[in-house]
Amino acid sequence: MDIFYRSTRDNSIRVSASEAILKGLSDEGGLFVPESIPGLDIPLEELSGMDYRETAFRILKKFLTDFTDDELRNCINSAYDEKFDCPAVAPLKKAGNAYYLELFHGKTIAFKDMALSILPHLMITSARKKGIENEIVILTATSGDTGKAALAGFADVPGTRIIVFFPKDGVSPVQKRQMVTEKGKNTLVIGVNGNFDDCQSAVKQMFSNKELKERLNARGYQFSSANSINIGRLVPQIVYYVYAYGSLLREGALKAGDKMNVVVPTGNFGNILAAYYARQMGLPISTLICASNENKVLFDFFNTGKYDRNREFILTSSPSMDILISSNLERLIYHITGDDADRNAQFMEDLKNSGRYEISPEMRDKLSAFRAYYASEKDTADKIKDLYGESGYIIDTHTAVAGSAYDSYVKDTGDKTVTVIASTASPYKFAKSVMTAIDPSYASKEDFSLIDELSKLSGIPVPKAVSEIRDAEIIHKTECEKDQMMEQVEKFLS
Ligand SMILES: *Cc1c(COP(=O)(O)O)cnc(C)c1O
Repeated sequence: MDIFYRSTRDNSIRVSASEAILKGLSDEGGLFVPESIPGLDIPLEELSGMDYRETAFRILKKFLTDFTDDELRNCINSAYDEKFDCPAVAPLKKAGNAYYLELFHGKTIAFKDMALSILPHLMITSARKKGIENEIVILTATSGDTGKAALAGFADVPGTRIIVFFPKDGVSPVQKRQMVTEKGKNTLVIGVNGNFDDCQSAVKQMFSNKELKERLNARGYQFSSANSINIGRLVPQIVYYVYAYGSLLREGALKAGDKMNVVVPTGNFGNILAAYYARQMGLPISTLICASNENKVLFDFFNTGKYDRNREFILTSSPSMDILISSNLERLIYHITGDDADRNAQFMEDLKNSGRYEISPEMRDKLSAFRAYYASEKDTADKIKDLYGESGYIIDTHTAVAGSAYDSYVKDTGDKTVTVIASTASPYKFAKSVMTAIDPSYASKEDFSLIDELSKLSGIPVPKAVSEIRDAEIIHKTECEKDQMMEQVEKFLS
């Protein structure tokens, strides 16, 4: 069965997977969503025998139905290769009361690599299929991890350029160093005097700016997106939930058909939405636990039905989740309206105008698979320390938000279901916060000087992603105000 993609804001728009991937965002600002969710259609016992690539092939084939088998296999083989530092690609580690699904074994040691190592291949393949001659310009706003993962994926890929905007004071020192030392000739990296929401809003506006689009088209360029609004990122993220279930079967932690819970440290709602799609496909997931940091707009939404971004933006130790406008939630809102684009568009209009909207009781009923919890800065640090004390396993701050949220959930419900926590970054990426959580006397040291200490404590060698940027030359020095972002883009493409 062919799967088409519809816009969340206009019922009349219906495109193929490759068109959706190329465009990133629909012209009127809507997000592309699959018109129907294909069934998993794989006997669960079989999952335990499938490696990551095979699992990826089986899932991608169901969603990207206008790609041939050869095209998909080529994309998958080019993505999930030695770039990952372990053959499992996404290994599962038991520690404390849960299984940690380590999604940080790619080039930039955050989970964004899981999708961004394949997106460039999906995009180039789509461009070839559609006979596109323009150069594709990836325009990206990042809260820290997407930026480097997208740069790593698109650097020096022929026929593409990539522009990354990050909040100049809102990312960790390792995240910043990773981005500003990027060597790719087709890259532009700019620190914005603003927060992530400012960067993301300006990027979204550029996407729906018709005049800008025409000007660039005349010069042989067209935009696409590497943010998780691109369906080409969302679909590859479904894969690791299916793979995690297979790993639990292999370990004997579950029998085929048993349910698992999934906990996801959430910001832009892409990762947990992928888990929701896996559940819709028929993967036996019982509860999806959405974990927030102190920017707990999603915790409030799931517990009250009211989304309200009118609040203070808090800089936390889990910066990749410092987000008040959670883009991919729009896809879930669309689904729970019964795929009603007009109604969804109204909610998004309210969000734009007043910063808030409230869903109906009927819509709330459709959210029964979700629970939401949040962790304060102290909860997060305590979780890192406690888990280390109990098991010797060191997790990063984002994963700790999820670990702490899970503990709250268990306390609340007594639910003993086998649980997988999405471990979204290597602790090396947030060395100072992690080390200070374990021992406050590290607070006076700098991130990079703590890397070796962290290696001693964890017994895990310093990843290449960190060692190679320690003394790398800073290439990207430009900073700008949030209202100068478009100017910078046009300058780069002139
Ligand atoms: C991006 C990111 C998140 C949030 O994921 P979303 O898909 O935006 O919800 C969590 N943790 C880390 C380390 C990230 O990079």
